[in-house]
Amino acid sequence: MCYLQNTAKRYKGCGDLVRIKRDKIDCNRTDCALSGLHNPEYHVCASTCSQT
Ligand SMILES: [Zn+2]
Ligand SMILES: [Zn+2]
Repeated sequence: MCYLQNTAKRYKGCGDLVRIKRDKIDCNRTDCALSGLHNPEYHVCASTCSQT
C-alpha cells in the first residue's frame, strides 16, 4: 500500500517537534488505486484494487 512518510526533527533545547518532510511512498502495485503503476485498463477498481 502507498503511504505518507513524515520526517520530523525534535529540537534538543525546547523539545519541539518540527515536521520537515512529507513523502508519498508508492507501493508500485498495479492493484493499488493510489499507486503510480495502477492498472490503466478498464476494471472494477473498487472491488479489485486496494483503495487505501
Ligand atoms: Zn499503494
Ligand atoms: Zn483500480
